[in-house]
Amino acid sequence: MIERLNDIKKRIINAALSCGRNPEEIKVVAVSKTMPIEKVKEAINAGAVIFGENYIQESREKITELSAYPVSWHFIGHLQSNKAKYAVKYFDVIHTVDSLKLAAIINREAVKIGKVQDILIQVNTGMESSKSGTLSDETLDLVKKISVFTNLRIDGLMTIPPLYNEPERVAPYFSMLRELRDSIKSENISNVYMDELSMGMTGDFEVAIKEGATIVRIGTAIFGKRK
Ligand SMILES: *Cc1c(COP(=O)(O)O)cnc(C)c1O
Repeated sequence: MIERLNDIKKRIINAALSCGRNPEEIKVVAVSKTMPIEKVKEAINAGAVIFGENYIQESREKITELSAYPVSWHFIGHLQSNKAKYAVKYFDVIHTVDSLKLAAIINREAVKIGKVQDILIQVNTGMESSKSGTLSDETLDLVKKISVFTNLRIDGLMTIPPLYNEPERVAPYFSMLRELRDSIKSENISNVYMDELSMGMTGDFEVAIKEGATIVRIGTAIFGKRK
């Protein structure tokens, strides 16, 4: 595990330096979905500090059991309204907010426990019917509407681009997300930060870094193949 994590760190540093970026701007979310607690502990001991989970049920148990460790948890799966309460209780950042309705529910739950919830807006850059996310040209409007909620803090955007075998083919989707982030940021909407770009997974994180990723979500390259 430590070799894998070190290898990923090296690849991130190289990708960042090759395009003139500071490698320290890039955070790694170790995607631990389906992985048992023991594997997560191994990753913590190897230096991972942020974990990504997709399923509320599974992650509640993990996060509770690992609560003594100083790590943070990001929710990266599709969030159903009826689970929003748990996402707010257990997760530092929710990457997958894609509707006003979901944002309103998350805000309501955050108000109840006196928390300001960090969120990212998920954008369906490939306009795929199989994927969640707001469409690119509806994102600014959604961000403006969500910005009025008192207990949400919009940190940036997230995307899962279409799946290609050649990572270079996803580059246009990543650059689309960056341009969208920049244009929304330039509106200077209050309560909207827009510094983060969550994009890039095991197969394409170096391309994502070249296109401006600040958060890469890596599962397989850290934990091995999921069953
Ligand atoms: C599973 C998952 C990942 C990690 O994918 P790998 O290819 O294993 O690195 C990243 N992001 C999301 C949203 C995921 O669901």
